[in-house]
Amino acid sequence: MLDDALVTTFAEDGPLARSVSGYRSRHAQLELAQAIEQAVHDRAVLVAEAGTGTGKTWAYLVPAFLSGVKVLVSTGTRTLQDQLYRRDLPRLREALALPVVAALLKGRSNYVCHYHLERLQGDDRALKSRQEVAQLRHIQVFANQSQSGDKAELTQVPDNADIWNRVVSTRDNCLGQACPHLKSCFVYKARRQAQEADVVVVNHALFMADLALRDEGITDLLPEVQLVVFDEAHQLPDIATRFLGSSVSSNQLLELARQVEAVGLAQAREATNWPQWHMKIQQATREVRLRVEPVDRLPAKRATYESMPSA
Ligand code: SF4
Repeated sequence: MLDDALVTTFAEDGPLARSVSGYRSRHAQLELAQAIEQAVHDRAVLVAEAGTGTGKTWAYLVPAFLSGVKVLVSTGTRTLQDQLYRRDLPRLREALALPVVAALLKGRSNYVCHYHLERLQGDDRALKSRQEVAQLRHIQVFANQSQSGDKAELTQVPDNADIWNRVVSTRDNCLGQACPHLKSCFVYKARRQAQEADVVVVNHALFMADLALRDEGITDLLPEVQLVVFDEAHQLPDIATRFLGSSVSSNQLLELARQVEAVGLAQAREATNWPQWHMKIQQATREVRLRVEPVDRLPAKRATYESMPSA
């Protein structure tokens, strides 16, 4: 019985207790693990909230490991993503002595791109300062030695350093199959490993990007899995809105007004009174601004259309 396996695993004298120093059995942790196991068995959706100290990471990893299905774990932050992959998964794999293969998969902007790195090396004028010259050297050495190419592993170059933008790829500037570095490409390597792994650790941004691309018929980002676990799930609504939602800003509306007038006057001057249309859109934009102003004073600065406070 799987449930017995859970009880044994989390017991005071179980495999976790034997291999993790300071381990103590917690009722809430076992209860959460059992609820997750049931949800996996029923192929159901479970939304669970666990207080600090419950030990929720193992509460979902243990039933996920024992289920034998391919699992995707998605985190809100890259910090937790790295911690799961580098610390929690190896510890659990060792404690349970299960031959589970794990992979870490991030968005392509996290991996050094050999092609763009080579181009930057060949273009001295592209470096903006002596600091960037030193950073480039670090990145070159890293790209030659690293197994993953994950920039989080290169601590000498800060995560927000501008040079990273020039040595990673985007969906638009990646050469794909035509790339001379395809065999050693870190992005493709990480995706291959994710395809072959039993547990794949991603973050919500990558998960949502995958959903958005699937809408466009592109399905090569994430592997097919049977179980998805969202840790730090409270961040999902915001990230989903960013990737799957539509947005329009007052600046975009004002730009639209300017363009309507310019194109109208250039292409069909006599068709209508274009400056008047420009003005009408400007006025409407001002009204929208006034209408949403009270939202700015709300604690989270957000409201649904129905709950919009009046001005
Ligand atoms: S395949 Fe794309 S990401 Fe990989 S090295 Fe080539 S250009 Fe860079």
